[in-house]
Amino acid sequence: DGPVISARDVRVWYGTTRGAIRAVDGVSFDLAPGETLGLVGESGCGKSTLGRGLMGLLPAGAKRDGEVRFRGEDVLTMSPRDAHRLRGSQLGMIFQEPMTRLNPLLRVSAHFEEAIRQHEPKLPKREVTQRALDALRMMGIPPTRYRSYPHEFSGGMRQRLMIALALVLRPAFIVADEPTTALDVLVEAQIVQILNDLRRDFRTSLLLITHNVGIVAEACDRVAVMYAGRIVEQGRVADVFAAPQHPYTRELLRSTISLRTTGLNFIPGSPPDLIDPPPGCRFAPRCPQAMAVCATTDPITIERPGGGQVECWAVGPTDLIPAGGTARLQ
Ligand code: ATP
Ligand code: MG
Repeated sequence: DGPVISARDVRVWYGTTRGAIRAVDGVSFDLAPGETLGLVGESGCGKSTLGRGLMGLLPAGAKRDGEVRFRGEDVLTMSPRDAHRLRGSQLGMIFQEPMTRLNPLLRVSAHFEEAIRQHEPKLPKREVTQRALDALRMMGIPPTRYRSYPHEFSGGMRQRLMIALALVLRPAFIVADEPTTALDVLVEAQIVQILNDLRRDFRTSLLLITHNVGIVAEACDRVAVMYAGRIVEQGRVADVFAAPQHPYTRELLRSTISLRTTGLNFIPGSPPDLIDPPPGCRFAPRCPQAMAVCATTDPITIERPGGGQVECWAVGPTDLIPAGGTARLQ
């Protein structure tokens, strides 16, 4: 099988009065059927923007460029009608802020009826209800809540409701944006289990956006590490976690581990302004291994042993570095 989703050099920018915010700046990856890719990175690095960009669900004023193919079909150039049809049936999105996607005036039942009817208009009402109740049960929401309104739910229940709505059509590809942040640990474990079941039973491909490196280790096949609008490293979870190559990946993993064991330990410094990012590697000002070349020239892409890539001068062979570029930056 070919990839379900294939993204090439995807760019998304937001127009503002200060200039264009380059939130996603040249991202490429493939996702095979049944595969889960974890997307991690600091707040503001462009994870949600990438997820929404893949789905064609960007706010007005945002622009995108590059190529996104769903089973070979270019979704960025298709008509709005075809894109809408695809989103209704094959692509699913679980949003970071559930309340913005739920209609406070509509009961839970109406949300499900609308979602299912859009895709299968002739499905008998009994069947619609049955499928909705199955999806709710899967997410641990009692069937007695089917006639409730979204505001009568707790934050965690709303998030589970969003997930049930995304799952009810069994899309081939789902973007789940921080699906577990509003949930307690028990429910979080349950959701990881459900995602794994989906992958096994329906070969659903998943892009899982999360701050939780533990969830990536548990539920993902591959991981992509994002920094300031770019994926700086990607590869198999087992490989990347065992031997992170990019200095940012290393710092990210280290800060996550020490957060649990010794308290806070954030990476010093802050990410660059995405309106006018500095030349060269965007992590260079914070990087313990930065060399002169890193501050002037875009990093080279190196294939990781065992698959995947890393974008970093310090990882590649030194003879590729331009003359004089190997001096330490700091
Ligand atoms: P978090 O982990 O906090 O959810 P994120 O990685 O999902 O962060 P995004 O929400 O994709 O980050 O934001 C990426 C960048 O784009 C940020 O600099 C943000 O301020 C900017 N941005 C996001 N949405 C908009 C918008 N609608 N208009 C202008 N700028 C935006
Ligand atoms: Mg986000």
